[in-house]
Amino acid sequence: MPLALAERSTLIAPSATLAMAAEAKRLKGQGIKVLDFALGEPDFDTPANIQRAAIRAMESGQTHYTPPAGIPELRSAVAEQYSKSQGLPTEAAQVVISNGAKHSIHNALMAVCGPGDEVIIPAPYWVSYSDLVKLTGATPIVLETTEASGFKLTPTQFLAAVTPRTKLLMINSPSNPTGVVYSRGELEALADAVLTTDVGVLSDEIYEQLTYGDVQPTCFATLRPGLADRTITISGVSKTYAMTGWRIGWSVAPVSVSKFMGDLQSQETSNPCSISQWAAVEAIAGPQDAVVTMKAEFARRREYVLQRIEGLPDVHCLPPGGAFYAFMNVSAHFGRTLGGKAITDSTSFCLTALAQAGVALVMGSAFGAEGFARLSFATDMKTLEQGFDALDRFLRD
Ligand code: PMP
Ligand code: GLU
Repeated sequence: MPLALAERSTLIAPSATLAMAAEAKRLKGQGIKVLDFALGEPDFDTPANIQRAAIRAMESGQTHYTPPAGIPELRSAVAEQYSKSQGLPTEAAQVVISNGAKHSIHNALMAVCGPGDEVIIPAPYWVSYSDLVKLTGATPIVLETTEASGFKLTPTQFLAAVTPRTKLLMINSPSNPTGVVYSRGELEALADAVLTTDVGVLSDEIYEQLTYGDVQPTCFATLRPGLADRTITISGVSKTYAMTGWRIGWSVAPVSVSKFMGDLQSQETSNPCSISQWAAVEAIAGPQDAVVTMKAEFARRREYVLQRIEGLPDVHCLPPGGAFYAFMNVSAHFGRTLGGKAITDSTSFCLTALAQAGVALVMGSAFGAEGFARLSFATDMKTLEQGFDALDRFLRD
């Protein structure tokens, strides 16, 4: 008899973003030219000062197990950043360092959700949210938002979805995949609604430093007195410092939640990589000029992307206020034939664009929003130029 999988194995699908990126890589491996906009991962090298900090860590013997919740130096650096820059008084004991923000989200959900619980997730949502919720045994309650309302959850929508089982609301501003940034006023209104209930909040703020023009990010937990007692804030170094491969993310939560998350890590992964943790200390506490340079480059690409989308036939997109994604509405092409294939939904659109035009995008359905295709502009200008040329030809076919 083959070894039977646990029932849990039916609950999740592989991450669609990683799957599209893997498919693009497979085609490239066969010598096929692929213009790859699938993955949300900065194309820049990790800044040199951070790399050097990692080398220093290795050379000075920082190559052993660390405390499960992270080295005190990094937990303190994160706590200090929240206390000073975000206006959220934070103790190091509230901070847990994990193997990337995805791991932080998983551990946070494991800490507070279980069978019978419901978790409200506004769609479009980042691919992993609903599957990570399902893994805890809880039920994702997906609330659709529309392009017309700026892809924003309203307090009325939230309150209408709350039941005695609702445990958490997950929010993500700046958002992956839409780039939407809620204004402070909009988040205050949501915070007020949350405070009339017993619901907690998981606020994924990983793109907090990547906003454009006069758009400002908001740290949700700071908005109202008492909110920090029921909020888990998630962030990390992956996006801001081009450190996706180093796998360092963190959570800031009430001490009891953080204590459990640290205990969980002590049983499941022991600790995040010691060398990466020292690199992250340098990222946070060291010079920030590389961040300014990368952000300026993202802003330049964003302008270019918006201008090119305007020129694409029957495609439009809400200008992203943050992150590095354009969430393109491609639904006008459904029911047509492109590249000799019938286009019926975002999956057939993206698969045909990849096969016929060599352009890798991610289907909106992976983010709980049919009708869209996500383009990541965390890639160089030349690839963007060639990609839009190819997409333009494909759509006019
Ligand atoms: N949250 C969001 C919204 C993301 O886009 C990502 C993408 N990586 C993550 C969390 C996870 O980040 P990390 O690479 O640090 O696990
Ligand atoms: N967050 C990135 C994305 O959405 C990385 C992929 C992933 O972690 O799934 O593309």
